Amino acid sequence: MIKRSFFGLATPLFPYDPPPRPPADPLDIPLPETISLYIEKPFESVSAVKLKVGERVHAGQFVQLMPGDAEGTVSPVAGRVTAVEPYSGDFGRRYTRLTIAAEPSGPQDDAFAAVAAEPTLAGLTRYLSDCPGAPPLHLLDEGGPEIDTIVISGMDSDLLMATSQYVMESRVEDVKKGIAVLKQVAAEKHIVGVVPRDRIQGYGHMGCEFLAADASHPAGMPVKIMHDVFGRTVPAGQRVEDVGAAFFPAEAVAAIGRSVSEARVEMHKLITVIDKQGVTRMVSAVIGTPFSAILAACGITLGARDSLIVGGPMTGAAVYSTDHPVQADTDALMVQDSADVPLSSDYPCINCGECIRICPVHVPVNMLIRFLEAGQYETAAEEYDLHCCIECGLCSFVCPSHIPIFQYIRLGKYELERIKALEAEND
Ligand code: SF4
Ligand code: SF4
Repeated sequence: MIKRSFFGLATPLFPYDPPPRPPADPLDIPLPETISLYIEKPFESVSAVKLKVGERVHAGQFVQLMPGDAEGTVSPVAGRVTAVEPYSGDFGRRYTRLTIAAEPSGPQDDAFAAVAAEPTLAGLTRYLSDCPGAPPLHLLDEGGPEIDTIVISGMDSDLLMATSQYVMESRVEDVKKGIAVLKQVAAEKHIVGVVPRDRIQGYGHMGCEFLAADASHPAGMPVKIMHDVFGRTVPAGQRVEDVGAAFFPAEAVAAIGRSVSEARVEMHKLITVIDKQGVTRMVSAVIGTPFSAILAACGITLGARDSLIVGGPMTGAAVYSTDHPVQADTDALMVQDSADVPLSSDYPCINCGECIRICPVHVPVNMLIRFLEAGQYETAAEEYDLHCCIECGLCSFVCPSHIPIFQYIRLGKYELERIKALEAEND
């Protein structure tokens, strides 16, 4: 496999979008009548699920399909289960989807209060892994990868998104409390915060060191932060965890801090909403809220051919239903007018070289795309650096033939992972 030297090409700068100072309050999205949650366990059959339609859950309750399951999620609301059904996510990943009819004044589960009184890593992992920012607490467990550094990222990983930067401006006390909790449950880890260079002042009292990163895409992506700020290169095909870092979005740390200090699981997610004109606003919605409720509250109408994208313009993924719910890692929701949607076309690669010039890791994108289009994923990985790609989305953005390069890359990586897992199963 080719292992190219990482990073170094001076790519055109796409500056991130900082929130205004002082940041405006987020728009609170009213609690919807029903919320939907995903459990990372495939739905096999009704008889394989103990959680039944009609069952009542409390707000903050850890909900499992079967007693004793490791997989589960915390219900942000009290209410009644109205559906338990299979759900296929990206690339056919299988989950179970729960729908809960919310009862706004229903009871609160009190089990988390004991965890908050004496936080342990296991307790926090059970209750807070699906809270805003999706804190990767499981990575700190002894059985996981060898993590020596917890990175608190105040960087957003796409353009127009400002969720992490907003948290570092408006939820500083919660982040500080979260840092104190992390120090308590992961005392041996080094904790470091990272914020955009032009916002580095004012974090001297947080309880850990804060470092500066460039404020332009793709500098906010974890692999790039590892390289630029920490001088650690993530080898092709590996993750930041493999070089000893656990990335916690600033919102995740704030949610940990607020949950423990208030003895109640924080389940309000901040989301940057980007409208058809590219105007952004911050909203706060309970996890599980359908996107339709957010669009309605923001006065955004979705036309027949408009696109709804989860994430930012470079790395976001289109969703095809406004029923899709806010999840712990939904940082941005973007609506693209049909007139602005770049139609992916059947145009072939014209070998203009734009993708190669802009790629921050020197992937030979023009060659890579040929093999990905042909479904030759092994060759794409072995000879054309598929695994070197950091998924910044810049190549798709500049391609004059509108080839959905980024989507092909994600599919190629997924297919290789799936083949590897199947081979391991058959061994
Ligand atoms: S998404 Fe495209 S530009 Fe970005 S690293 Fe991957 S191949 Fe290079
Ligand atoms: S930018 Fe598009 S058309 Fe140009 S070389 Fe790359 S894949 Fe081909």
